[in-house]
Amino acid sequence: MKFIDEYQDRELVKKLAHRIADHSTKKIRLMEFCGGHTHAIMRHGVRQLVPETIEMRSGPGCPVCVTATTDLDKVIALAQLPRVIIATFGDIVRVPGSYSSLQQTKAKGADIRIVYSTMDALEIAKANPDKSVIFAGIGFETTAPTIAASIIKARQEGLENFYVLSLLKLTPPVMRALLNLGEVKLDGIIGPGHVSVVIGSRPYEFIPKDYGVAFVISGFEPLDILLCVNKLVEQIESDQPGAEIAYSRGVRPEGNVRALELMSEVFEADGANWRGIGIIPQSGLKIKEKYEHFDAAKAFAVSSKPAREPKGCRCGDILRGVAIPPECNLFSKVCTPERPVGPCMVSSEGACAAYYQFCGLSSPQKKN
Ligand code: SF4
Repeated sequence: MKFIDEYQDRELVKKLAHRIADHSTKKIRLMEFCGGHTHAIMRHGVRQLVPETIEMRSGPGCPVCVTATTDLDKVIALAQLPRVIIATFGDIVRVPGSYSSLQQTKAKGADIRIVYSTMDALEIAKANPDKSVIFAGIGFETTAPTIAASIIKARQEGLENFYVLSLLKLTPPVMRALLNLGEVKLDGIIGPGHVSVVIGSRPYEFIPKDYGVAFVISGFEPLDILLCVNKLVEQIESDQPGAEIAYSRGVRPEGNVRALELMSEVFEADGANWRGIGIIPQSGLKIKEKYEHFDAAKAFAVSSKPAREPKGCRCGDILRGVAIPPECNLFSKVCTPERPVGPCMVSSEGACAAYYQFCGLSSPQKKN
């Protein structure tokens, strides 16, 4: 198949759903680790297309959602420093921190600007030589290469007022952490498409090898996801788990070599704090010493009060796959996209936002 339309073909989708139903005999649980997949699965009704033998759960795949409150508080504290401009992607601005949000901090006069790429942040730094521009680097392996490129460019251009607060996170270590936790038994993992374009399929080989869990990387169209589920069912039914790619038009086993080079030029693995999970060793990216001038964590000292989680919010449980959004008492009653309590309702990739938008739960009267 060449064209995206073909990956949305209803007849092909139905045929594949039937095939999966015919072959799926065991009760299994699959988890996706990508907010884009969470929304695609909900938008296209994939949970309704697969047989009852297959349960689908969302994991920690939304970068804004997995950002720990204490790290968000740090960004908010940086925004309050004099002569500082914070540049960031849009979603995080509305996420409540312990005592405020970036949106509220902006309303009180802080200079916080939403950008669409790190290169925009570089331009802001060039246009404001008398101020410090800090880019809040939130994201996974997908985002890391462009942030690395911006730091290299800043160095080449001799920019003295551009900084990055790296809150970047790595996907394979969080998969290992959830499998080690064992709170939710997983039979298969729907591998993230965009992350895997960068890192390839090899970093996931430990999943079938060490844990006996099936693993298949998926694209984002309905047929992509069903092809992935079909491969997962085949691996599980034959008891032959592997690390496969069902998104070959985007992912190579070795990943994107140039992007990986950029990442390793600027970053090295370090412990990172994940909402609902805590510190996972080697699951984040910190800026290497060679580029430390651009490291906001080293250049600015801020202290913030102890972090507080939003009362009643179960984002942590949802990110670990222990609960689904409607199991949160606040879901759609107190917490809505207009008045979000936690990040999973704010972010365009959050599981609560996806359930709210696509499960007919967006208005209380539809709920029953
Ligand atoms: Fe948190 Fe709202 Fe989701 Fe509940 S519905 S877990 S309060 S984001």
